[in-house]
Amino acid sequence: MTSLRTQGLSKTFGGVTAVDDVTIEIPDGQFVCLLGPSGCGKTTLLRLVAGLEIPTAGHVLLDGVDQSGIPAHRRGFGMVFQSLALFPHLTVAENIAYPLRIRGETRATCSARVDELLDLVKLPDVQDRRVHQLSGGQRQRVAIARALAIEPTLFLLDEPLSALDTKLREHMQIELRLLQQKLGITTIVVTHDQREAMTMADLVVVMDRGRILQAAPPIDIYRNPADSFVADFIGTSNLVTCRRVDADAVEIFGRTVAVPDARAHNIAVGAEGVLSIRPEDVALSATLDDGDFEGVVEFIRDLGASVEISVAVSGLTILSVSTPRDRPSVDVGQRVGITFHTGRAALTPP
Ligand code: ATP
Repeated sequence: MTSLRTQGLSKTFGGVTAVDDVTIEIPDGQFVCLLGPSGCGKTTLLRLVAGLEIPTAGHVLLDGVDQSGIPAHRRGFGMVFQSLALFPHLTVAENIAYPLRIRGETRATCSARVDELLDLVKLPDVQDRRVHQLSGGQRQRVAIARALAIEPTLFLLDEPLSALDTKLREHMQIELRLLQQKLGITTIVVTHDQREAMTMADLVVVMDRGRILQAAPPIDIYRNPADSFVADFIGTSNLVTCRRVDADAVEIFGRTVAVPDARAHNIAVGAEGVLSIRPEDVALSATLDDGDFEGVVEFIRDLGASVEISVAVSGLTILSVSTPRDRPSVDVGQRVGITFHTGRAALTPP
């Protein structure tokens, strides 16, 4: 059992507050992704948890035990960095066995554990190769195996897949998730890729300027973003300024649309907010009367598996996405009818 809690954790470098009063609870066995734009403090938060940075304020607690004063190498965590930091002069087996050798394990124990770990990360028959004789994906697996060698209580990874090309990266995301589920190890991954976070995480922690904006399961964040920053960061969203006119209605583009009250996010009746409408909830029609609003098609992007159509509505560009089967037969420059399926839209503060 390994649960992690940070309590009022802050880190300041000179005048820069990299992590600002972060309190979060991570239950045992969860896969957590720290997600946010460059410079938002993800890496610093991970390094504070790891013990590689000393907090300016606050605490890291592991199963309720304050980790202050415990150096990184005594915390028993497994770590993988973007650079991987594998030893080029050692073989794959020697790299993986390294943390075990440091602990004074016998040659026989190390050898058995290396076999087990290579099997676990699906990398047989490369024990004797040097790191430069491996592909990027294989190197990644070696770094993961090395981090897992000590059976860590917590698994921490900083942008572990960012050096890989898109296809391999997506494959490794699934592999990493399956591995974590098999081991049941509490894991924290830093990423700036929202798709990666949505693929792997039980809990996505969205950060901006050192603070946590929202921590929730991926689909909850997608459907109920805490604010328009999160809505725009997770997936694509049409952010439309609106005014709440009723318990369950808002006005957009001069017309009233229904929005379930539960999604009202503390916007008072009469106050302004932002309605976040996902592109898959925007339907277009060549017949103007079929839509509640009107717009003009600006651009059509046919991606094969999906079709994205941008439409200008009262000076705003609205994105609609559909499958090729549901693609409306419209052309650039054409006036179209638009229906916003607002039943799943989220209302957030301006
Ligand atoms: P990225 O995705 O670009 O890696 P990040 O979200 O991981 O970014 P951090 O690396 O944690 O962000 O940095 C947060 C802020 O703290 C940035 O403004 C950064 O410049 C600053 N910072 C981080 N480490 C140091 C340091 N050792 N000295 C000074 N400033 C630092």
